[in-house]
Amino acid sequence: MENHSPIHTRPAELLQRLIQFDTTNPPGNEAACIQYIRGLLTNAGIDSTILAKDPNRPNLVARIKGQGMTNPILLYGHVDVVTTENQQWEHPPFEGKLVDGFIWGRGALDMKGGVAMMVAAFLRAHAEGVQPPGDIILAIVSDEEVGGDFGTKYLVQEHAELFKDVRYALGEFGGFTLQIGKKRDRRETNLLDESNRTRAGRSWFDTCAGWRDGNAGRCVEEIG
Ligand SMILES: [Zn+2]
Repeated sequence: MENHSPIHTRPAELLQRLIQFDTTNPPGNEAACIQYIRGLLTNAGIDSTILAKDPNRPNLVARIKGQGMTNPILLYGHVDVVTTENQQWEHPPFEGKLVDGFIWGRGALDMKGGVAMMVAAFLRAHAEGVQPPGDIILAIVSDEEVGGDFGTKYLVQEHAELFKDVRYALGEFGGFTLQIGKKRDRRETNLLDESNRTRAGRSWFDTCAGWRDGNAGRCVEEIG
C-alpha cells in the first residue's frame, strides 16, 4: 500500500528516488531531478526559484523566512554524480535499492544522501511552522563534479544577491571525514533513519536542531 505520510518523514525513500535520476556528469541532465525536488516544495506550499545558465542544468533556491534576528543559514548540495562507466556494481547504481538497511546507488554518499537530509529538514521546518531566528536558504545545484560552471559558479556570479548576509552554511559531506569546527567525524557512512536524523554525527545535528531555540552561531560554537 502506498505510504501517504509526508515525504520529509521518509528521507530514505526520498534518497532512493533521487538516486533513480541518472544525473551522471557529464552531461549532468539534472533538470528532472531538480524539478522533482521543486515539486516536493511546491506540494508543501513552499515557493522556489529555478535559475539556469542552461535549461538542462538548473539550480533551485528556496527560503524559509526567519525572524530577522540573525544572519541566514545556507543549506546547499549538488545532485550531479560521477560516472559509473566501466565499473562493476554489486547493486544497480540507479535503482536506489535498500539492502540490509543500506541504500545503494551512485550518489548515495556524494551527495544525494546529504541532499535528501537537507530537503527533508527544510520541508520539516516548514511543516512544523518553525520560525527560525534567521532565514533558512536551501540551494540545490547542478554541475559540481565538473567545474561548477552551470551550478555554484553561475549562481555566485549572476545571482549573488540571493545569498546576501549568509554567514553560516552546511554543504557537502559524504563518505569522508567531516569536520565542523574542531570536531571530526571518522565514520564513513551517513545513515538515515525514520527519525530523520543522521546516526553518524547525530550529536552534532541534534545540537543544530536546537537552533530554533537559539541561533546558528551558538550551534557552530557548541559543536566546535
Ligand atoms: Zn560532491
